[in-house]
Amino acid sequence: MTGHSLRIGQYDVTLLLDGLFEAPADVLIHADGDAARQHAIESWGKPTLQVDVNCFLLRGPAGAILIDAGTGTSWGPKYGHARSALRDAGITPGEIRSVVLTHIHGDHALGLLDGDEAYFPHAEVFVPGGDIAFFSDPAAREAMPEARRGGFKAAEQLLRVYGSRVKRIEAGEVLPGIEALPLPGHTPGHTGYLVRGGDKSLLCWGDTLHLGDLQPGDPKIGLTYDLDPELAARTRRAALEDAAREGWIIGGGHITGFGRVQRKPNGYRILPA
Ligand SMILES: [Zn+2]
Repeated sequence: MTGHSLRIGQYDVTLLLDGLFEAPADVLIHADGDAARQHAIESWGKPTLQVDVNCFLLRGPAGAILIDAGTGTSWGPKYGHARSALRDAGITPGEIRSVVLTHIHGDHALGLLDGDEAYFPHAEVFVPGGDIAFFSDPAAREAMPEARRGGFKAAEQLLRVYGSRVKRIEAGEVLPGIEALPLPGHTPGHTGYLVRGGDKSLLCWGDTLHLGDLQPGDPKIGLTYDLDPELAARTRRAALEDAAREGWIIGGGHITGFGRVQRKPNGYRILPA
C-alpha cells in the first residue's frame, strides 16, 4: 500500500497508508455551538466518516526519516500497513535514522513500538515539547476520561522505550530542510513539519484537519478528538491560509494523498496536488 511520492528539495517523500479509520458522524463538532454542529452533520450527509491514516517516509542525503509512525500492531490487523509499505519502499526499520512526530496520539506514535522494544532500533525520535509536557502530566491525565487517555499511555511507553533518544523540539529547524511549525489545538504541542524545497515546499500538518472534503469549507468544523476545539479551529484557518498564500503542498495524518489549498468565498478547498 505504498502511496504517492514527491520530490521536495533534498528529499524523496512517500506517503505510507497505515489503514482506514471509521467513526460515527456525531464526532463532528463546531466552534459556533449546537445549531452549527447539526448543520455540519447534515451537510456531511453520511452516518459515518472514514479517513486515511497516513505517515510519511523521507529519503535524503542523511538517510531515511519518518514523519509519524502509524499504529504498528496496537490497533489490530486493520491497521499497521505503514510497516509493509515501508518494506515495499525498500527500507528496513534499522535504516530509519529519525522519526518526527506531529503529536502523541496512538495512530501517529504507537508504530514506534514493538511491545516493549523500539521498532526502529537506531532512530532518534523528535517530539513536540508541548505534547511531552501535557501527556506526562498526572493532573491532565486524571482530568481526561479513561477512554481518551491513549496519548498519556503512548507518551509513557515512548519515553520508557526510547529513553534519551527522545528529543524534545520547539519551533524551528529540526532536521536539514525540515522546519517545525507549531499548530496547537488538536493537542497542546501539535506540530506541522515544513519540508522546504527550491520550487515547492510540503507542509505535513498532522491532524490540523481530518476531513479534506468538509473542514476547509468551514474551518470551524472540528472533531471531538481536538483537545482544545477553539484553538484548533483558529489554527486550522491560519494553516489553510498560510498554505494557500505560500502555495505549499500539504500532506496530513488523515487527508488522502497530497493536496494544495485554494481560497474560496468564506473558506478554502483542497485540490489534489
Ligand atoms: Zn490526533
